[in-house]
Amino acid sequence: MKSSQKNAKTDDNKKKRPQKSKNIRVYELAKRYGMSSRELVAELREFGVPIKNHMSTLNPEMLELVEEERKSKTPKLHAPTDKVPIAAETARDTTPTVEEKEHKSAPEQVEDTPSVPQVQEGTTVGQLGKILGFKGTEMIMKLMKMGIMANINQRLDYDTLQEISNQFKFEVVHKPTLEEKILTDEPDSPQDLVPRSPVVTIMGHVNHGKTSLLDAIRESNVMDTEAGNITQHIGAYHVELENGDVVFLDTPGHAAFTAMRARGAQVTDLVVLVVAADDGVMPQTVEAINHAKAANVPIVVAINKIDVDGARIDYVKQRLAEHDLVPEEWGGQTVFVEISAKERIRVEFLLEMLLLEAELLELKANPNKLARGTIIEAELDKGRGTVATVLVQDGTLKVGDPFIAGRYSGKVRAMINELGQRTREVGPSIPVEVLGFTGIPQAGDRFYALHSERDAKAISDSRQAEHRQARLGPNSHVNLDDLFDHIREGDIKELNVIVKCDVHGSVQAVCDSLRKLSTDEVKINMIHQAVGGITETDILLASASDAIVVGFNVRPTTEAMRAAEFEGIDVRTYSVIYDLISDIHSAMEGLLDPEVREVVIGRAVVRELFKVPRMGTAAGSYVNWGRIVSHQHVRLLRDNRLVYEGRVDSLRRFKNDVSQVQANYECGIGIEGFADFKIDDVLECYTYENIPRKLK
Ligand code: GDP
Repeated sequence: MKSSQKNAKTDDNKKKRPQKSKNIRVYELAKRYGMSSRELVAELREFGVPIKNHMSTLNPEMLELVEEERKSKTPKLHAPTDKVPIAAETARDTTPTVEEKEHKSAPEQVEDTPSVPQVQEGTTVGQLGKILGFKGTEMIMKLMKMGIMANINQRLDYDTLQEISNQFKFEVVHKPTLEEKILTDEPDSPQDLVPRSPVVTIMGHVNHGKTSLLDAIRESNVMDTEAGNITQHIGAYHVELENGDVVFLDTPGHAAFTAMRARGAQVTDLVVLVVAADDGVMPQTVEAINHAKAANVPIVVAINKIDVDGARIDYVKQRLAEHDLVPEEWGGQTVFVEISAKERIRVEFLLEMLLLEAELLELKANPNKLARGTIIEAELDKGRGTVATVLVQDGTLKVGDPFIAGRYSGKVRAMINELGQRTREVGPSIPVEVLGFTGIPQAGDRFYALHSERDAKAISDSRQAEHRQARLGPNSHVNLDDLFDHIREGDIKELNVIVKCDVHGSVQAVCDSLRKLSTDEVKINMIHQAVGGITETDILLASASDAIVVGFNVRPTTEAMRAAEFEGIDVRTYSVIYDLISDIHSAMEGLLDPEVREVVIGRAVVRELFKVPRMGTAAGSYVNWGRIVSHQHVRLLRDNRLVYEGRVDSLRRFKNDVSQVQANYECGIGIEGFADFKIDDVLECYTYENIPRKLK
């Protein structure tokens, strides 16, 4: 039995994967049909079913095709499908889920309707065939001609059905998922809406004074609140002013802002861009501007450090104007406030301006419903379990409310505000620490309070399953490898690109050339361009904006490499501009057909230098990721910039030559033709891998 099972497996044709259950052997099927195995084998071969003998196995998909073929061949010999216990019952799991029941009823509704048939989202190819009056095989063929490859049991999503409906007239009916049923709100009626406070993120170049400004604001607030209260760091805090409150996200910088946006959360209503008057527009200033623009969030400029001697306020304004941030006095629309965070000059005024700016946004929320919000930060606390700061954005959160956030459900056990006080109810635009999670959600995950714990659990289960699936399946971000297919299908009209280069001149050159590649079908958008290595923030921005990242003479940091893998971002690096442009051009034309692809296998960091007789200089290094392999390709990076490319010439551990060194070990590395190592240089070992050609 065992060996025949094995045989049967290999017999299954290579194109179709055998299904887990409900396979049937040819001889068993022959019995059902009341014919000899030999007759059935002959018949199946005639149908083109790839079987070897009577012990071969048919999977449900094949079975359904056979069933269709037999029906059309000898219609009178067969009862209607639903009476034959093969196609309908054997081919499927025995107990239909609620979903399947719903689908089964779909054709019936349709048969009664003489006008355009209705087809539910999620209908299988087979069911669609039935509705449209095609046999399963015919339906598969017709879809194939439209460029849709699907097997008989495959469910068709809304967009695909829409596309098919252009050719075969039917109406696609959207089927709400459990989440949609539970998590979709009725729109609020205007009288239920009340104004809510703006949520502000402070961004800007390092050392321009973001932290100082947050401190100055918090301090001004503490003095106003009751004496003795010390604010706790919970990721956000709110400031009470005469004309209203302002909420600040307490993690300055871009990573948090972009990480949230990468999860689809728009938390920030306003960005305060801090620019030091003595330093001006710097790379992270530009990055912040680009991030805020990409998120469509208005910017208020705070020119900081006006107290220092070298302050050049007008000069800074001019530089900012080049990025479309033009002060009102110059006829622009951007609010500029000249401050000193350190000397507490005009900090209060900045807050007032934020309130004014927020007024224009007419921010409103309905406090009288279940809470909706976003996770600002979350961690595992030794004593308290998972603690997450939730910014409630709509509705009111109460102790005891069941909830779902990201993949985890829970029930609010306790809430603690920024002053460390327990609280029972929290309304819109208020950050609060929440206890009662079953797992650690991610910053940016949406938070929903629900009526029922069971619903929360059900959504959590389905998200967990989806998460597992997504980790196995291909990522959903734009990728040069299948760019052309998406352009052809009309899914992609714009290609978002983040460009990082070693020097300013290259940035210009690369961006200019890329812009020229835009065609009528695809426009190339530079989301962000800058000098420097590819960082984790670049990857998060790419994830949030669905962009690819290209680097010229720069490489990703190790964190960025990990993030790119996790987020599924296509990162391409080049040392010849022509190659970069040519790759993107080819990808747009569908001509990119790499047979080999570079794969980074490890990284090491140089810790000391030593002279080796007859060899020159070797780098005493620590492998911090992957492994270093002797004679493989290696490149030397300094500040994430490419310095040299060559081969691993010698690889040693304790004076012994070794063929490879794994992560967390030290070793001596020599590079062919290179001796100019410096401490902290990164050695990146890589190889080339053959890419199996995809069948189209
Ligand atoms: P961040 O990296 O943007 O968070 O910048 P910090 O808030 O850490 O500030 C960097 C440095 O600038 C610190 O030494 C601050 O004391 C100083 N600094 C911040 N604001 C001012 C200011 O308004 N005037 C002066 N003179 N120094 C400031």
